[in-house]
Amino acid sequence: QNALLSATGTTIFTVMSALATEHGAINLGQGFPDYDGPEDVIDAAAAALRDGRNQYPPMAGVPELRQAVAAHNRRFYGLEVDPMAEVIVTSGATEAITACLMAVLNPGDECVLIEPLYDTYLPVVKLLGAIPRLVRLTPPDWALPRAELAAAFGPRTKAILLNSPMNPTGKVFDAEELEFIAGLVRLHDAYAICDEVYEHLIFDGTRHVPLMTLPGMRERSMRVGSAGKTFSLTGWKIGYITCDRGLAANVAKAHQNLTFTTPPNLQRGVAVGLAKDDAYFEGLSTHLQAKRDLLAAGLAALGFGVLETKGSYFITADFRPLGFTGDDVAFCRALTMEAKVTAIPVTAFYASAEAPNHYARFAFCKNEALLSEALARIGRWI
Ligand code: PMP
Ligand code: GLN
Repeated sequence: QNALLSATGTTIFTVMSALATEHGAINLGQGFPDYDGPEDVIDAAAAALRDGRNQYPPMAGVPELRQAVAAHNRRFYGLEVDPMAEVIVTSGATEAITACLMAVLNPGDECVLIEPLYDTYLPVVKLLGAIPRLVRLTPPDWALPRAELAAAFGPRTKAILLNSPMNPTGKVFDAEELEFIAGLVRLHDAYAICDEVYEHLIFDGTRHVPLMTLPGMRERSMRVGSAGKTFSLTGWKIGYITCDRGLAANVAKAHQNLTFTTPPNLQRGVAVGLAKDDAYFEGLSTHLQAKRDLLAAGLAALGFGVLETKGSYFITADFRPLGFTGDDVAFCRALTMEAKVTAIPVTAFYASAEAPNHYARFAFCKNEALLSEALARIGRWI
């Protein structure tokens, strides 16, 4: 059997969701909304199911969705994209990220990853025989250590994988950080895989800036989006990649060998979604921002050291001020079993055991009544 996979544990999201179910806990662990996505998007997919759109669609995605992705890139970021040559639809951003890594990495190539990191990145880089070069952000503000990042790039660097807005930290890389990263990518003639699944879940009036829009980055970047996040439909697993035509052929071949195609009826729904008016996208972030504010204020009032969240579904909070002396795994287990609220230990987002172990990640993509109930339960417990 494959040794790397044998050494990989079951994902923390599955582990903690199972524990939540077992103990009747409110699940603020795995990041999924407890509300449905837009009705017109769901209706369009349902109609497509009834309309006979149930056989293999074109490999790179139904033209309607590829056109919608291109139009979305132009509308929000001023990117001119050829829908037929530069957009590939995948079964979720998870597949998209894997396909992008497969498209550019050869065994022995180095890939720069930033910790804390989403849990699929490292196993996939390693399975491809590439060498991860890990650089850690520094809490509590998750600052980018520029000298360390520069030192992680070298003659064997093929790519960097950047997640902004970032899971689990809620960090949004600012313009200067993006320019610094782009400078390294250009200098080392590398590629950037940009996990931008939270592009529309960004708060306080901040605008998302794709790395792809920076000078010299159009041809080097692979930009990944997810309908799961943008339409609050995480089970749909529709992702989309935007990249230069020179990269798209290889990305398409990776997709061809992973899943080949993605359900056409759901693609139809997502095409309708991406064409929604600006009010939808603004509403998505303002509604979520209110939830962030509710949970952040509630956790702070309970005594947590709440870190700032500028985007994503997540708040990270330091539980040491509560007087809890165990590590984050012990805290999240006790919180689930005793308080009946589930969170994710942030060490799950690190490659090695030596990591900050006093933060828990809470998802706030939930109805406000549920968030309030979770806060009340924690309040009774501490
Ligand atoms: N990247 C990040 C940072 C995520 O948080 C997620 C979803 N949890 C994904 C990728 C995967 O997205 P999808 O569900 O579309 O595969
Ligand atoms: N991306 C979601 C999270 O970070 C969950 C993804 C998953 O369950 N694999 O919570």
